[in-house]
Amino acid sequence: MPLVSMRQLLDEAAKGGYGVGAFNVNDMEQIQAIMEAARETQSPVIIQASRGARAFAQDRYLYHLMLAASELYPEIPIAMHQDHGNSFETCKSAIELGFTSVMMDGSLKEDGKTPSSFEENVEVTKRVVEFAHARGVTVEGEIGVLGGIEDGHGAGGTGLEHVTDPDQAVEFAERTGVDALAIAIGTSHGAYKFTKKPDGSVLKMDILIDIHKRLPHTHLVMHGSSSVPKDLQAIVNQYGGKLKETWGVPIEEIQLGIRNGVRKVNVDTDNRLAITGAIRKVLWETPEKFDPRDYLKPARDAMKKVVAQRMKEFGQAGHAGDYKPISIEEMAKGYADGSLDPRPSMAGAR
Ligand SMILES: [Zn+2]
Repeated sequence: MPLVSMRQLLDEAAKGGYGVGAFNVNDMEQIQAIMEAARETQSPVIIQASRGARAFAQDRYLYHLMLAASELYPEIPIAMHQDHGNSFETCKSAIELGFTSVMMDGSLKEDGKTPSSFEENVEVTKRVVEFAHARGVTVEGEIGVLGGIEDGHGAGGTGLEHVTDPDQAVEFAERTGVDALAIAIGTSHGAYKFTKKPDGSVLKMDILIDIHKRLPHTHLVMHGSSSVPKDLQAIVNQYGGKLKETWGVPIEEIQLGIRNGVRKVNVDTDNRLAITGAIRKVLWETPEKFDPRDYLKPARDAMKKVVAQRMKEFGQAGHAGDYKPISIEEMAKGYADGSLDPRPSMAGAR
């Protein structure tokens, strides 16, 4: 099956009332872990690469690993997504490489650290939307700023410093025409999201629900949505790690989001923890081992287990065979004639 557009994947998720995990990759083992989990649970998947991942793996390696995945798992719809593009050029290069979806994170300036103005965000995102939609490629934007730092990208601080203003979200969606919108509701990138189990004072699910009511056709995205489970933290620390105690986003809060318009859920930290814990365990228990396969295989299995569990929890399991992929060229036509325009003002075109 060819790589499919993320828009089609998310439209189908909206129809089916489920969410789709977007899992970050840097290398072959992570892609293999996701694809095995997808086959086991019969799930459509979003595989995403950050700028850091593209630099680490090199574009051509990543692209061909994705093509290998689509050849080896023809029954699984796969969208390949650029995570946190920092400029028009980053998104353009991803599209030219063959990504079927890009995130233009204009909430930060090109340095990926300094919060930008609303007008700057609208301007650069709109430019990416025009370029991407003409080629049938999906665009995710971001309004409001998440806490923490992910692969050197992020404003730092807590997730509550730049929570999304729903009025701004509506204006942003209307002026840019993005397919999907990442909103800041108190979550942060990385492992250290919350210092206690989050409640309504730190996780603003009411804002998410309000935005979904006003933008019913724009798919919402939750970033920084690893759950950082205690058992994964414990394995790392049991075998010599030094993680400080921390809390992620509880699965039941993500599921509440999914019932209210969240279609894409970004998960990276949980997989990192699973991989590191598995590698530490092998090296700790059998220090005489030195064949990388001895620890990479358990690491891959550990990640697969987490991904499969999330696929079931987000509801995407069982949906891989629901639909035939629409080509990127067909998607471009839908954008050109307005039928794919998610804006409230374009209701007539749909
Ligand atoms: Zn993110």
